[in-house]
Amino acid sequence: MALAPRPAPAGEGALRAEIVHIGRLIHARDLVDGTAGNLTARLGPRGPLLATPSGLAKGFLEPDDLIVVDLDGRLLAGRPGLQPTSELAMHLEVYRQRPDVGAVVHAHPATVVALSIAGISLAECVIPEAIVFLGLVPTTPYATPSSDENRRAIAGLIGSHDAIVLQYHGSLTVGGSVTEAYQRLETLEHTARIIALSRLLGGGPPLPPDQVAKLLQARAALGLARPADTEEFCLACGVCHAAGDHRPRPALPAWDDTAVEAEEQLVRRIADRVRHALLDKP
Ligand SMILES: [Zn+2]
Repeated sequence: MALAPRPAPAGEGALRAEIVHIGRLIHARDLVDGTAGNLTARLGPRGPLLATPSGLAKGFLEPDDLIVVDLDGRLLAGRPGLQPTSELAMHLEVYRQRPDVGAVVHAHPATVVALSIAGISLAECVIPEAIVFLGLVPTTPYATPSSDENRRAIAGLIGSHDAIVLQYHGSLTVGGSVTEAYQRLETLEHTARIIALSRLLGGGPPLPPDQVAKLLQARAALGLARPADTEEFCLACGVCHAAGDHRPRPALPAWDDTAVEAEEQLVRRIADRVRHALLDKP
């Protein structure tokens, strides 16, 4: 079916050029292989989207290779024969949940994927720039690429994260612009390489909580803090207060000798019963 001619909104040419440029960078920096990966960007505050089509290598795109889709994934414009990527549902889920996001990049960064296969999390407090610009990066359970499983895998995470690892598969990074989403991808792969190298060298301790707290203040000052930060950095890095709030953590309850004594009695009673049961056996 031939698509009706569509007048290009102001700025569309620049956005097409930006996507083509970033596609070349992603390929040149080995962040995708073959025809893998996909990029989308909003053409206006409420959509439609400019998107890389299915089956074309991201390193060799021309501006008129890009297609236009609406926020339900319907093809609105594009050269004959070009179709939306099978990963579009994952992108649409991001735009549905995040009005602040202007662009989404899905790639296959090798070290990120290798660490996810090895079961090594990127949600560690070890790289200052990663803490500031990415926060703690979650890893989804494995989901079949190009299926709706990927959309479901990121649905519970994308509201509170700008970078996600897709286990055994790749990455999803978002930003206000295509360039910002790409920069997060670069930082993600760079962080993964450092973590992999440090593990090969025997590893080392994470940053202490007071240093992580300072980085979280910088993250908040740059407007990058996400809703899940407070709880996640408490669990992963021991920074158990909001950035800028230096209230001391609640003290641990005092040692209770009576409780210890009761526990010892309980252990003794269980041991007696086990011994009794064993001795009673024919
Ligand atoms: Zn993929």
